[in-house]
Amino acid sequence: MALKRANCAIELMRCLKRLRDPQSELLLLRSCMGVAKLLFGLRTCQPSLVGGAVSVFDEGLRGALEDIVVCGGAFFGDLQWRLASLPTRFGGLGICTAEDASSYAFVASRAQSWGLQDHILRECGGDVLDSDYRSALDLLHSSLPDLDIGGFYIKDTAPPKSQKILANALYGEIVKRFEEKFVLSPRQRAMFECLRAPHAQDFLSVAPIEGLGQHMSAVEYRAILRYRLMIPLFPVDEPCPVCRKACLDSFGEHAIHCKELPGFKYRHDWVRDVLCDVLKRAGISAKKEAPVNFLTDPLEGRSTLRPTDILVFGWEGGKHACVDLTGVSPLVGLKDKGFVVGQAVLKAEASKVAKHEKACLENQHVFVPFAFDTFGGLAPDAVRLLNRVQKVVNSNSSSLKVSNFVFSRIGFSIQKGVAAQLVARLPAIAL
Ligand SMILES: [Zn+2]
Repeated sequence: MALKRANCAIELMRCLKRLRDPQSELLLLRSCMGVAKLLFGLRTCQPSLVGGAVSVFDEGLRGALEDIVVCGGAFFGDLQWRLASLPTRFGGLGICTAEDASSYAFVASRAQSWGLQDHILRECGGDVLDSDYRSALDLLHSSLPDLDIGGFYIKDTAPPKSQKILANALYGEIVKRFEEKFVLSPRQRAMFECLRAPHAQDFLSVAPIEGLGQHMSAVEYRAILRYRLMIPLFPVDEPCPVCRKACLDSFGEHAIHCKELPGFKYRHDWVRDVLCDVLKRAGISAKKEAPVNFLTDPLEGRSTLRPTDILVFGWEGGKHACVDLTGVSPLVGLKDKGFVVGQAVLKAEASKVAKHEKACLENQHVFVPFAFDTFGGLAPDAVRLLNRVQKVVNSNSSSLKVSNFVFSRIGFSIQKGVAAQLVARLPAIAL
């Protein structure tokens, strides 16, 4: 029966490509089609009984994901598959495989529902801790030797949030042993860290709404997915068609670092516009490109009108805030050793503060740097700003459901800017 279910799910996943929109396809695959279709079976059957269905299902799932990312093209290897099938908070695309889920779903489900089982089976007597459960638990212990699962063997001590605990332990172990399985270059290692940084994967959860700038074309979205899954994008050694000063590398690193103004400025301005829109929709008064007369370079020493990216009225203690956006690529000048994730945005934030904060304070304004990196990582002041905006939104909205959509929108706008840089340099045949 599990096999039949797996085959039905694969049939459904095959229909996905008819949408011709990788952004919606990925969203549907993650939330409605993937392992969700099999979860009931995985939770209620011993892992050893569903093995056949699991491998059939995962093969279909991998095929569907390959179609979304490379559209039948090459370079979707085991590394890409492993990376994509991690949860988003571990740097993946959140496409959970049946194999991973089956390793803990049965145990977690049993452990979480003891009360219910006791109630249903109260007339039957007998041992609820049967051999099925024990053997599944032993199997789990062998794959997660570091996790103390002693509590699971006794009914009264099984933790109430078993599924969360076990999933976290499983994926933590996979990440820890990642480099035992795959040989990573320094660039790939650094990228993997960037992808796991807080907020890096926020963009994956937006609903595709054109009017809010929350949609990417198929070419754009695929370029982003391929870049983040470390799949080659460009033929090597072609000169960059935009700046003509450097050569493109196959993974698109130059495309993203390239400081040629149109693309670089587009990215900055796009994020600024979306941030301004987010503020306005939250009911916060803000004006973009607002001229102020004190944001001059101290070295120039004279006072001229210069626009601040966004002026937020009465933001802190009645003072207006000058928000200054800056985007950085964390992998610029990457060395073999000493890469620290999040350092690039911290440095950018500090240098902006050093440059503008004093002038703002002297003129009765507060200065808010907004530093982001090309993976979606945010500096602390940017996180603080968005957290406060999210709170304002939540307090204004009547629905109790709290989500982080402010972060998702900003994350998506950053990726859309990056996508534009990549797409502008793609060879014509790839379009
Ligand atoms: Zn260039």
